[in-house]
Amino acid sequence: VLHNRLVELKGNIRVHCRIRPLLPFDKEFGDPASQDSSVPAGVVHAIDDETVLVKCAQPAHPLINKTYNFERVYGPEESQQVVFGDVCPLLTSLIDGYNVCIMAYGQTGCGKSYTMLGPHSKEERIPPWGPHSDLGIMPRAAGELFRLIAENPSRRLQVDLSIVEVYNNNIFDLLAKACGMETSGRRREALTTKDARREVPLLTREPVHSAEDFVALAAGSLRLRAELATLVHARSSRSHLIITATLTTGPAACGSPADQQAEGPPLEGQPASGSRGGASCGRASAGSLGAQQPMEQVHAKLQLVDLAGSECAGVSGVTGSALRETSFINRSLAALADVLGALSERRGHIPYRNSQLTHFLQDVLGGDAKLLVMLCVSPCRKHVAETLRCLGFGARAR
Ligand code: ADP
Repeated sequence: VLHNRLVELKGNIRVHCRIRPLLPFDKEFGDPASQDSSVPAGVVHAIDDETVLVKCAQPAHPLINKTYNFERVYGPEESQQVVFGDVCPLLTSLIDGYNVCIMAYGQTGCGKSYTMLGPHSKEERIPPWGPHSDLGIMPRAAGELFRLIAENPSRRLQVDLSIVEVYNNNIFDLLAKACGMETSGRRREALTTKDARREVPLLTREPVHSAEDFVALAAGSLRLRAELATLVHARSSRSHLIITATLTTGPAACGSPADQQAEGPPLEGQPASGSRGGASCGRASAGSLGAQQPMEQVHAKLQLVDLAGSECAGVSGVTGSALRETSFINRSLAALADVLGALSERRGHIPYRNSQLTHFLQDVLGGDAKLLVMLCVSPCRKHVAETLRCLGFGARAR
């Protein structure tokens, strides 16, 4: 089973689906609480490791009885550890020179931040750090990344971190602000215009030397993100969060015979040449990050993405500036769906430049980059329409 899973993970786009548990706050809105065993708990079920079933009767609607297949489906009881176990081989791919993206997609409140980061307070989305059994993908990935780097000293890999949020199709450099490099006080300043055709400008790239450094910088940025969100009266679930770890090799390492020897023969299931960044020296371009230092060679890039909530304006009944936000979110998620659709149909033209989100993720979407989309869904009856939309998005992306 493990071998099959690893072979599967060699594919380019895979879609996993995680059903969150029923939570006490679901009850407030009239859903059966998980404690009450006399009522059916939830209407979305993992019927096996790869199949999700949505089954419910809605007043005045035909019975919904739909199944979807994904590479992996997690029921509400599955732990963070199990979820990361399936993600972990992607870190090995990263060390081997593949660009990797792990993104969480779904309605607000369905577990995206829990999955990507860990448990957190509702408003701040700042998870607890350190040894904790509920840590999400980001801190676990940081740990695994530095473990693998230590295991492969001959590759001489260095890690730089960039952290941004994409809000209303503008990119905000959270790391610059978190590191106190900006003096613009508390003003929220976009780095880009609405014109996605322009190159992404210089972003802060902060070297990190350990998983602790990685997580501490991320925590600082998330704290700032929460503060900024409060300033503009927006919840942080209204922006896309993108944490980018760029792996570079020093100039001396690139192309030297010693380095090429250190690469060793291609691993099973990998192309023999041209796709591993170490040997091809800079295949994974740093272009869209724009902050390339002279002489360094990009080995590969990891992007961890906590997308904004996918719920529609009609459902959340918003107006004014919140409606504006929602329409930006819908447009960027539609652009993401278009890119994934074009990739899965192997079309010649991939419309990356229709939004800042897809433009910014261009290096990790397509080519031989490896993408994992984690669909996060609620088990509740009241969320069924959004759940079906989310599962439909995942089904089209495969
Ligand atoms: P989103 O980021 O999609 O808006 P959150 O990650 O904030 O959703 O999750 C909403 C709430 O549900 C949070 O209180 C979170 O801790 C909880 N939650 C989500 N998924 C799980 C899970 N698998 N197990 C336990 N609690 C969860």
